[in-house]
Amino acid sequence: MALEIRLYPDPVLRERAEPVDEITDEIRRLADEMVETLTLRVGYGLAAPQVGVRKRLIVVDVDEHFYVLANPEVVQASEETELGVEGCLSLPGIEAEVERAKRVVVRGLAMSGEPVTVEAEGLLARVFQHEIDHLDGVLFIDRLGRAKRQRLLKAYERARREREREREREREKAPARAL
Ligand code: ZN
Repeated sequence: MALEIRLYPDPVLRERAEPVDEITDEIRRLADEMVETLTLRVGYGLAAPQVGVRKRLIVVDVDEHFYVLANPEVVQASEETELGVEGCLSLPGIEAEVERAKRVVVRGLAMSGEPVTVEAEGLLARVFQHEIDHLDGVLFIDRLGRAKRQRLLKAYERARREREREREREREKAPARAL
């Protein structure tokens, strides 16, 4: 079942998520549903707070490989950084160039309960950093300068209002229910 994605400014996106104590069936089911949601929504990654769950769980889909990690942590980051364009399923309609470490080593728990270490570079490293930020209530817009962030948030509001108007129009177009 696909899950509903929480949109900014939903407060759950600003909370710090709790560690996953144990990989239970419930956690595995949540991970499966997050993978399904991510596939449907065509994103690179999804963090549990984005579906309203305050747990440290992320799914990442880069180069046709799914990474599902509980309690993921960046244990090593290169000093070398790079700029790359980011968007977010919780902030539809806007994107910006964000500076991130070019290479990271991420550690976490696989759904088997085994610890895993992933060495990531480029896009994969970027997606891990973006998703792990979500677990601490941090969004990509927080990584921008103030002026740029405010400009983007205005654009976000405009896009949001436009989507609402679009939905209104769709409702008006829908034929009245036959009696
Ligand atoms: Zn995001």
